[in-house]
Amino acid sequence: MMKFEQINLATPLLQSLQEKGYNEMTPIQEKALPVLLKGVDILACAPTGTGKTAAFILPVLQNILQKESKKGIKALILTPTRELALQIGLETEKLARHTSIRHAVVIGGESMEEQLYLVDRGVDIIIGTPGRVHHLQDQKLIDFRNLDILVLDEADRMLDMGFIGTIRKIAFRLPRKKQSALFSATLQSDTRELAKEILRKPEFIDLATSLPDLSLISQSVYYVDKQNKFNLLKYLLEEKQIQTALIFVRTKFDAEKLAAELIKSGRDACALHGNKEQDERSLVFRNFVSGKTAILVATDIAARGIDIPNLEFVINFELPNEPESYLHRIGRTGRAGNSGHAISLCSNAELRFLKPIKKIAGNKKIVIIEQHPFSYAPRQKGEARQSAASIGKMKSR
Ligand code: ADP
Ligand code: MG
Repeated sequence: MMKFEQINLATPLLQSLQEKGYNEMTPIQEKALPVLLKGVDILACAPTGTGKTAAFILPVLQNILQKESKKGIKALILTPTRELALQIGLETEKLARHTSIRHAVVIGGESMEEQLYLVDRGVDIIIGTPGRVHHLQDQKLIDFRNLDILVLDEADRMLDMGFIGTIRKIAFRLPRKKQSALFSATLQSDTRELAKEILRKPEFIDLATSLPDLSLISQSVYYVDKQNKFNLLKYLLEEKQIQTALIFVRTKFDAEKLAAELIKSGRDACALHGNKEQDERSLVFRNFVSGKTAILVATDIAARGIDIPNLEFVINFELPNEPESYLHRIGRTGRAGNSGHAISLCSNAELRFLKPIKKIAGNKKIVIIEQHPFSYAPRQKGEARQSAASIGKMKSR
């Protein structure tokens, strides 16, 4: 493992790294940082939770420090979601704290005036989502003439969300002479295609698997009737003395409902989903990250890319129908070398989702917990249907 001191970073950056407790580089940082510091383009593929943010922020900051007299926006970081943009903003703020480098987060949903006010005051870095960035660029409200670096974070996700056209439009109007970096958790053909369009003689960095590293996460599944899920959840929160948790459900409706039920039962909870006003969404997210809210009930919108420090428990109140979503959900815990726990509640109707999940997560790694107060035996193929009532009786003996 290499240390940050070994790569010639400016002193104020080393200082904030030390304060953040980052001593050794993560593998992606070890590979990407030296290349980016040389000014070379990269195409980097690495699982989530591996420290990609610092891998591109540090070279951006170093570059700006070296051109202290240069005015204008020198770096643009595009990212798929508003939450991610805010998160990268926080990381930038921390890593840049001993410099005078300024950044603005430019995202949809929040007041444009406020964002523009910051931009007009003079910022070095713009972190934003494609839609809003393109809008401001199109209206000539942001001037990228002095841009030196373009970063596409979670490129695969941006493409999944249909941002390809917008990204092309943004990139087309940026100065030709610049450095570009594309980060992605997976490398499918459309991501490669975009890379080909945007990057110049990139160095390719591949840290193998596109899936989060689950080695430090314990995974368990509880079979439970749908009607008993809430009782089991309450039981588990108590039994395992869970203080904070990220709980996943499938719909915004479920998120609101579960958060309300948790509050009613005396827990501190909040719902996060795509239907909320952006101001509120950002606040909810920030409150959870800062520890102000104990339990966050979220739809998959919160599953990818976002980073919650020291999150110990991820609970799937409902299983996702896409196995990849399962991995991204549980990948919110067990990050940066910390251990984590993923607990899933699986009803009879969800058994069909469990099978592909087991396949992708490694069958042996998932422990089925049979003994719990609300358990029932899942119906096997060909078995007669038992009513929930008779099962309940059997269990309560
Ligand atoms: P990614 O973008 O690859 O999903 P992040 O940049 O969000 O990953 O980083 C994941 C976690 O690892 C964060 O909590 C971050 O603070 C932490 N981290 C990043 N780099 C280091 C490092 N060199 N040493 C210790 N922790 C780190
Ligand atoms: Mg990231």
